Amino acid sequence: MSSSAINTQAAAGSASQSAFQRASRLMPGGVNSPARAFGAVGGTPLFIRQAQGAYLEDLDGQRLIDYIGSWGPMILGHAHEEVLDAISAAAARGTSFGAPTEAESQLAEQIIEAVPSIERVRLVNSGTEATMSAIRVARGVTGRDKVIKFAGNYHGHVDSLLVSAGSAAATLGVPDSPGVTRGASSDTIVLPYNDAQAVANALDEHAGQVAAVILEPVAGNMGTVPPQHDYLQQLRSLTERAGTILIFDEVMTGFRLAFGGAQQYYGVTPDMTTLGKIVGGGMPLGAYGGKESIMSQVLPAGKVFQAGTLSGNPLAVAAGSTTLRLLKEDPPYEQLDRYGEQLAAGLSGAAADAGLPHQMQRVGSMLTLFFTDQPVVNWDDADRCDRERFGAYFWGMIHQGVYMPCSQFEAMFFSRQHGPRELEKTIDAAKAVCAALA
Ligand SMILES: *Cc1c(COP(=O)(O)O)cnc(C)c1O
Repeated sequence: MSSSAINTQAAAGSASQSAFQRASRLMPGGVNSPARAFGAVGGTPLFIRQAQGAYLEDLDGQRLIDYIGSWGPMILGHAHEEVLDAISAAAARGTSFGAPTEAESQLAEQIIEAVPSIERVRLVNSGTEATMSAIRVARGVTGRDKVIKFAGNYHGHVDSLLVSAGSAAATLGVPDSPGVTRGASSDTIVLPYNDAQAVANALDEHAGQVAAVILEPVAGNMGTVPPQHDYLQQLRSLTERAGTILIFDEVMTGFRLAFGGAQQYYGVTPDMTTLGKIVGGGMPLGAYGGKESIMSQVLPAGKVFQAGTLSGNPLAVAAGSTTLRLLKEDPPYEQLDRYGEQLAAGLSGAAADAGLPHQMQRVGSMLTLFFTDQPVVNWDDADRCDRERFGAYFWGMIHQGVYMPCSQFEAMFFSRQHGPRELEKTIDAAKAVCAALA
């Protein structure tokens, strides 16, 4: 059987299909963020009614094991009771004051205690805001303009970083978005991921001009691509020597790979770190921070402007703070790693049994099954994957009740609520789907 043996559609006449038709008349592409539109896999997106633990329920009442987890935040599982209680309690006291609260200091303390590089932190409303602000601070502190980023790394939709970005940008083939001016991207140097020599050369060539190197310490926005041996250490020493600020974008990896993020996992401490996703516990919240000497340049302590009407929002802070407390009190990381290993072996075995060329790449609870016969270490490798096969695999899994990321270039995540039952069901589903694809 070929890919066409799998129905790459939601059921015709489903509630999701009519909801999508309505949404498409109201919002661009029917969605509020492009990754949700199923553009990379075809068909129309499932609309979600509710979620609990490891499961999503769509408008048609179909229950699905969720491996997106809202693209990363839901490490405790959906609708966690203590997180919901904290949000309700905060809401009852008022939803926004535009004035400082003690809860913000509580969350700041938790972040600073957890993340090795962060001595001072500023709360913002999204991962995009965090990276945008970190870049501005790095430029302000160094008095330099240029920024190095890596092809296939995504840092939100910041103009200067929307160049060779991964995630939805990669999926949609928009390396440069219309509307990003040449001016905004002309100070961005794009290099291949996992190639320290390329960074050494660029820092030489642009000596004294590079404000920052920003990267995903484990790339997740071109599918899961771990840093190769010593890559992070080499970036650390190269940037130190060049007086360049090293920024780990841990919006995805923060509190996911370890409580202290990838920097704790790999033992490499950057100058600045950006956070999002888990730090907000499923609410809109991001953060950026770093050395005291750097963060003291931010207004009103210093002169680099950055502000936000809803920054440190009480509901978001309550969700984030409770999530971090629960992760610290009862760390899930060993369980996630153990189950991650089982899941990776099962999914990879299913593809192997069916004779499908593939690579399974994983760090902790971030994993990707790439449909290619070569290891994926950078964007050019990822770009060689069989996207059509991935689309058929994705829909096959949906029909089996498993909700995978809807692009070859997104990492799968799972939560502490995913247990042996869910894993077994997922692996059985993969066996059936891979057999149909063979
Ligand atoms: C998701 C993500 C962002 C953007 O965060 P938003 O909250 O979507 O703005 C930035 N960097 C990385 C590494 C991400 O995974």
